[in-house]
Amino acid sequence: MQLDAFRRELDGWLDEHAAELARDASDGDGLDADMAQLAKVKQMTFDAGWMRWGWPQRVGGLGGSPLLRGYLGEALTARDLVEPGTYSMTEVLAPTMIDYARPELAAEMVPRLLRGEEMWCQGFSEPGTGSNLAALSCRAVRADDGWRVTGQKVWTSFAQFAQRCVLLARTGAPDSAHRGITALFVDMDAPGITVRPIETMHGRLEFCEVFFDDVLVPVERMLGEEGQGWSVAMDLLPYERSTSLWHRGAFLQQRLQHLLTDVADDSLSAAELGDVVVQLFALRARSRATQHRLAAGERLGPETSVDKVLLATTEQSLFDLVASAVADDVLTGDDAAGARWRSDYLYSRAATIYGGSAEIQRNVLARRVLDLGPES
Ligand SMILES: Cc1cc2nc3c(=O)[nH]c(=O)nc-3n(C[C@H](O)[C@H](O)[C@H](O)COP(=O)(O)OP(=O)(O)OC[C@H]3O[C@@H](n4cnc5c(N)ncnc54)[C@H](O)[C@@H]3O)c2cc1C
Repeated sequence: MQLDAFRRELDGWLDEHAAELARDASDGDGLDADMAQLAKVKQMTFDAGWMRWGWPQRVGGLGGSPLLRGYLGEALTARDLVEPGTYSMTEVLAPTMIDYARPELAAEMVPRLLRGEEMWCQGFSEPGTGSNLAALSCRAVRADDGWRVTGQKVWTSFAQFAQRCVLLARTGAPDSAHRGITALFVDMDAPGITVRPIETMHGRLEFCEVFFDDVLVPVERMLGEEGQGWSVAMDLLPYERSTSLWHRGAFLQQRLQHLLTDVADDSLSAAELGDVVVQLFALRARSRATQHRLAAGERLGPETSVDKVLLATTEQSLFDLVASAVADDVLTGDDAAGARWRSDYLYSRAATIYGGSAEIQRNVLARRVLDLGPES
């Protein structure tokens, strides 16, 4: 299906099913409610075919350009039907699963994620090993019956809801750096896994510590070959900065519209507002070009760090503008009306950390894109 026709028909379908798709107010507004809403919207859009467009037929998709996925997430976000962080886990994890899993495993698992029957999480960061990912120490040892995993992950988003985890583990010598890492697709209900949620400063149990104690992972659950985990990570991280950032840009656009409706004109500095609008356009233009490169079959790489830097800067500028425009007690008080702005403002501080910190993105650009030499 072509993008124009997809847009038109999807918009019509979303209008027609608006009442069924809407959040159920009785669910409340916490993370549990977000997850229930996400599962409902994914199931409805999958069963109607929309969620299947842009994904290969071999994993339950209907084929077509990835631009169709970009528009679906944009439309759902703009209508406030999904929260972009949870929705976009599919965009972060499924493409690499398709690139690296055994075809039978991808064919079995990806449709479950697309249809909202499952949530997956990304087990990369460890205590002391976030930016310096190649130093990770969670260990997998080969045994007769598969891999035995022991170690700890941290900041694992939505792990308490997840049925599967894309996990990086060290299978080489302790000092083998990026050469000794293997990627595994782990069932989160396997014996030996303990998940402990951590509360963010915006008051949600959004990410977790995950402990692995001699957890058995069958050999068929390797993503790629033994020792190929670094390639898996380098494949996944650009996906994390492509379609999912397009969706986050749509979310920022939607929040800017709300700001303009909620706040009196004279509370907004025209110069600051203009600055935010320009940043948002730059982000959308850059992200759009990335979507088109993805659709043209180009392999995305370190240049997607530009998209992540733009996203983080724009998100923080937008919510700094909110902070300067709304009354002080909206951000510091506990009134219900300000809760959404307060939450968005506090979460925007994480934009320069998740998916690789702002400093690391700039290092990547300096070293791998601009070739400015090694870190001193
Ligand atoms: C909301 C959120 C969700 C997340 N979800 C996940 C998830 O689902 N899965 C997952 O695996 N991880 C997740 N993370 C973790 C995230 O990837 C890491 O926090 C991030 O990579 C930074 O690693 P760190 O926290 O260990 O900080 P550190 O690496 O310790 O960095 C601390 C500070 O030092 C700076 N720094 C470090 N090294 C350098 C350098 N060489 N040059 C210049 N500055 C440097 C960093 O920029 C940062 O400011 C999430 C984080 C957040 C905030």
